[in-house]
Amino acid sequence: MKQNGNSVLTDERLNNCIQSAVAKNPLRDDAFDVVDSAKIEMISEKFKDIIEILGLDLLDDSIKDTPSRVAKMYVEEIFSGINPKNKPRIALFKNTYQYHTPLMELNIPFTSYCEHHFVPIQGKANIAYIPKNYVIGLSKIHRLVDYYARRPQVQERLTQQVFQELVTILQTNDVGVVLKASHSCISCRGVQDVDSSTITSAVGDKLREDAYLISILFDFNKA
Ligand SMILES: [Zn+2]
Repeated sequence: MKQNGNSVLTDERLNNCIQSAVAKNPLRDDAFDVVDSAKIEMISEKFKDIIEILGLDLLDDSIKDTPSRVAKMYVEEIFSGINPKNKPRIALFKNTYQYHTPLMELNIPFTSYCEHHFVPIQGKANIAYIPKNYVIGLSKIHRLVDYYARRPQVQERLTQQVFQELVTILQTNDVGVVLKASHSCISCRGVQDVDSSTITSAVGDKLREDAYLISILFDFNKA
């Protein structure tokens, strides 16, 4: 691992161990055998079928490009986090300033997608950690949340993935991840409870003992 003063530390070995440490989405072994452009073509064809089966007219000016639009959106935007090639590069810096008290990054917005219904899960993440030897670029925390959110997900797994990723790259268990989100599958269908939300958390032991920190991490009104 390169350690040039405060310079960026990125390292293949580190990234490899990150992959194996994190809770996995149920991916097939051949998930990336097909290139993105071919996936877009294939999904577009399937989506045409769905639209037709629903009885809509694919010749209509407003709908005719919807299949390719949806396919592109799936592959390049809302499910882009399925593919490890889209994982953000993580910039770590040596903790030369010896900062060993909690850092909190609050109100990180994310949009994920319920893997049971393929509709949005929208919420905010509050994240804290106590730096050991390294600190992470703040925007990278946002990018990691976004990367793991851009998949068909359940909120519990998303929480674990962000937590485990931060534990691995920061080389400390002193990490806390709390997510609060609204699930469209609760609000738009089924029970149709519009104002409900779901909180999930993964918090290391040391942070759990800090009542003040916990009160902030779980308070999405104050953040
Ligand atoms: Zn759902």
